[in-house]
Amino acid sequence: MATNKTMRAALLTQYGAPLEIKTIARPSPKVGEILVKIEASGVCFTDVHIARGDHASPNPLPLIMGHEGVGRVVEVGSPDGRFDVGDRVGIGYVYSACGHCRECHTGGENYCSDFDATGYSVSGCFAEYVCLRQDWAAAIPNNISPVEAAPLMCAGSAAYASLKKTDLKAGDTVAIFGLGGLGQYAIQIAKQSGIKVIAIDIDQQKLATAKALGADETVVANSDAIASIKALGGADGCINFAPVGATWPLMLAVCKPRAKLVLTAVPSEQLAFYAHELIERGLQVIGNSASNRQEMNELLQLAANGKIKGVISTRSLDEVNIAIADLQTGKAQGRTVLDFH
Ligand code: ZN
Ligand code: ZN
Repeated sequence: MATNKTMRAALLTQYGAPLEIKTIARPSPKVGEILVKIEASGVCFTDVHIARGDHASPNPLPLIMGHEGVGRVVEVGSPDGRFDVGDRVGIGYVYSACGHCRECHTGGENYCSDFDATGYSVSGCFAEYVCLRQDWAAAIPNNISPVEAAPLMCAGSAAYASLKKTDLKAGDTVAIFGLGGLGQYAIQIAKQSGIKVIAIDIDQQKLATAKALGADETVVANSDAIASIKALGGADGCINFAPVGATWPLMLAVCKPRAKLVLTAVPSEQLAFYAHELIERGLQVIGNSASNRQEMNELLQLAANGKIKGVISTRSLDEVNIAIADLQTGKAQGRTVLDFH
């Protein structure tokens, strides 16, 4: 139907080079797919990794990146499908997974060895239109704006899934390391669950924002940090959203026995430890990548109550390279969203 129509898209044509805005053919939904007109598309640090080539796509370029897309369904590939034209939907990093492996059957679709990643192995959301699999698109509650919803698709959902893996309950204390977008979401989600938050970063402005978002305590990540966090009672669980190895010895030092240390950000260096540090204190180190659909839906329900707000700056599609550069230099304080309106 829409095969001869066109759309504007930001194309990665060469690793390490700026994206190129081009007019290309608009995709057409196949059976089980929906065509979505993008309203807002979040920019994630994973996009930086892909664009630089240190997380290169398995497919030849060009590639449309972007895995925090929200928009309206404009065409359906199956007439009696899950969504109707006009519905607002979103997609995160997991575009779809095999659906029949052990991981997929047990809530671990984001760890399926055969999953497609939006804006990485299939076309993503830095474009006016994207085709999604209807079973994998998330319904966006009416009272969340597209710009607010977009970063929930990856950053918010990953923060939610990470916090869930700490197994903390009301009254417990979580230490959150790294207060960019994910850390900011994790603070608010933790407070919604009655968990006390100690927020740690090197950036004073990010610490101030963390406080404003509800963090009970903020600690500068300097040489006094371990003593400061211990003086606050230590942590029942830790989450690392800072893409540096420097937070690792801090996490080991400030957590209480049997704490869970959840690693979400990806430092480029190795993390070292002596086995006894984990063994004698019964610590667990857990990795978290993205989220499953259930976790995303739970977060969207929380956000629909107006309790989870992103620190968001908006750009146009034409400014996508500025948005990526700001992420790379650490200039972005929260999340950046391309606003298509
Ligand atoms: Zn992401
Ligand atoms: Zn699978």
